[in-house]
Amino acid sequence: MPTVPSTLSAPYNELTRRLSDLTALEEAIGILSWDQEIVMPKGAVEQRSRQIATLSVVRHERLSAPDLAELVDQLMHDQTLTDTQAANVREARRDLMRTTRIPEALVRRWSETTVKAHDVWVEARKADDFSAFEPILTELVELSKQRAAAIDPEAPPYDVLLDEFEPGTTQAQLEPLFADLKAFLLPMIAKVRARSQAGGLPDTTWLSEVVPADRQRTVGETVVRAMGYDFDRGRLDTSVHPFCGGAGPSDVRITTRYREDAFFGSLSGMIHETGHALYEQGRDLDLADQPVSRARSMGIHESQSLLWEKQVGLGRPFWTALLPKLQLSYEFLRKVDLDSFLFGISQVDLDNFIRVDADELTYPLHVILRYEIERDLFNGTLQVADLPKVWNAKMQEYLGITPPDFRLGVLQDVHWSMGSFGYFPSYTLGALYAAQFMNSCRDQVPGVDAALSRGDVEPLLTWLRTHIHREGSRFGTDELVRRATGEPLNPRHFIDYARAKFTRLYGL
Ligand code: ZN
Repeated sequence: MPTVPSTLSAPYNELTRRLSDLTALEEAIGILSWDQEIVMPKGAVEQRSRQIATLSVVRHERLSAPDLAELVDQLMHDQTLTDTQAANVREARRDLMRTTRIPEALVRRWSETTVKAHDVWVEARKADDFSAFEPILTELVELSKQRAAAIDPEAPPYDVLLDEFEPGTTQAQLEPLFADLKAFLLPMIAKVRARSQAGGLPDTTWLSEVVPADRQRTVGETVVRAMGYDFDRGRLDTSVHPFCGGAGPSDVRITTRYREDAFFGSLSGMIHETGHALYEQGRDLDLADQPVSRARSMGIHESQSLLWEKQVGLGRPFWTALLPKLQLSYEFLRKVDLDSFLFGISQVDLDNFIRVDADELTYPLHVILRYEIERDLFNGTLQVADLPKVWNAKMQEYLGITPPDFRLGVLQDVHWSMGSFGYFPSYTLGALYAAQFMNSCRDQVPGVDAALSRGDVEPLLTWLRTHIHREGSRFGTDELVRRATGEPLNPRHFIDYARAKFTRLYGL
């Protein structure tokens, strides 16, 4: 082994110093955005936009500095770096490439168009008028193609867009996964539909009992705390759209909303955001200001929220411990036994048009529908004008229902108005990863379910901390999943889980 002269580490130290500054800028933007959603007075909107825009420009300038690119290039060839250091350089290089390859004129046009498009979408949705949204959506698709071509002219544009949220994921990988899911879900949902029409299923009217927001908050906070969320490094607030934000692993802020006639939806939303928050709080604190500690991808982030919300938060062990406590707070639940409770919270809603309200079984089809539309838009086989027709036809084919208007159909999601194409698959990848992680945790930690039944999340949380949270972006997604579970992403875990669960719940 050659000894490493200490001067050789100077470029790497210089890089970490500059990346640390960039992280501080991103965290400051994070706090300003959180403040805007939660506490900022309405009148400050314009100033706040200016503050965030200025910080974003400073970040962009620093990230595109030519000497930073030289430093990264030099370090890409440095054989003396440790694996973690090399991964940090790799992640920094990815940020640089995705940022600096897009020409400035396109960056400006993009931000102007997305700001405008959001307002246009809000109005079009209010008026239930797709044709009002169509021109600017067409423009966004065109601009996205240009951005993709700027980042990587060799790759198919939709692959470049997918890569933004799921580094390394391509259409070629998604096609067989989604084909397997469809082949399982369509007949499974048909069986559930037939069983539901036959009647005689458990009563679930207790789900719409009215619970005041302050009582929901008290219960929710207890659950969030019991899951291991650290209130010394985070806080819980109320917002219109729940989210997990803040500024790095020491300041992870979650929000929720309370619907008085849907207490379980609110609780389940809190469990979801806490899953995201545990991932952030579990990052490697020694490397918190470096890209290598960041969450691996949107899909892996969603795997953490869905693992808690669905795999754990809809499961028997978790509620064995928690239902008796919930019954102390909510009197109307005292007449609901564990089996009826578990049926109610996992019930399949066969008449639902809205993705965000969808249950575990129908949700992936909402995602696959959007994925197929985006894929065809970017491969040039579908025109924006034809979206409503294609949307409704796919809803009918996959879920057996046709939206009565655009609000409940093609205009329901905010994503396209923000130019976020390629994001939707992450939700379903998250559900697949979650099932696979849970299975591996059960194999490796035999007492995990027994502990959950006693209200003890420690064995599960420790497994997640070790295999997912602390690993950050040290490895590519594939490698992370292989190391944690011994195999690449395998949809059988989710399919077997869902088949067993819904067969049991519906007595199929
Ligand atoms: Zn989420």
